[in-house]
Amino acid sequence: AAAAAAPPRLILDLEALQHLDAGEAGPLTRYAATIQAQRGDYNGKVLSIRQDDMRTLAVIYDESPTTLTERFISWGVLNPEAKGDVEEPTE
Ligand code: C2E
Ligand code: C2E
Ligand code: C2E
Repeated sequence: AAAAAAPPRLILDLEALQHLDAGEAGPLTRYAATIQAQRGDYNGKVLSIRQDDMRTLAVIYDESPTTLTERFISWGVLNPEAKGDVEEPTE
């Protein structure tokens, strides 16, 4: 059985990302391209990203991480299993 404590991974579909409207998808596209460049990971169809990266993207898009996760899933660029994965900041 899978480890119960392991969160579902955040996996971007890079091909689907290329077909989105550049206006809304632009920041995500540039962010993903930056991670690919930092890793030297240019040939993948998908890109696994960090939990922290969804929180950073939420700041960029001025949304909660939960709302942004659902939007990326609705765009078809994030795996549906990611829903509810990113924790809200707590004080
Ligand atoms: P870094 O954060 O200092 O990580 C150095 C190396 O540790 C990475 O080299 C990678 O080999 C490994 N590493 C760190 N965290 C993880 C992880 O969660 N999973 C895996 N599999 N390996 C990990 P790499 O991949 O060449 O990345 C170089 C630098 O690029 C990283 O230095 C970091 O500054 C940046 N980077 C790469 N991918 C990401 C990402 O997904 N998000 C963010 N925020 N930065 C990234
Ligand atoms: P997985 O995590 O289910 O990933 C399945 C396949 O999705 C990977 O096969 C790879 O083709 C693609 N993939 C996922 N994330 C990325 C990404 O950020 N960049 C690219 N270019 N491709 C990605 P692959 O590489 O043969 O890996 C097979 C399995 O090996 C992975 O299944 C995972 O369980 C493990 N694995 C590979 N790399 C890492 C890693 O950096 N960290 C950990 N923990 N496991 C890894
Ligand atoms: P993963 O490689 O299976 O790593 C799963 C989790 O283990 C990461 O979740 C992180 O919490 C922890 N982890 C793994 N390696 C390191 C490390 O070197 N340093 C630290 N501080 N923690 C580590 P996270 O951060 O949400 O990342 C999710 C997935 O995103 C990773 O799965 C990996 O596929 C990818 N990733 C994240 N950062 C990097 C990176 O710097 N380089 C590469 N190649 N892949 C990365």
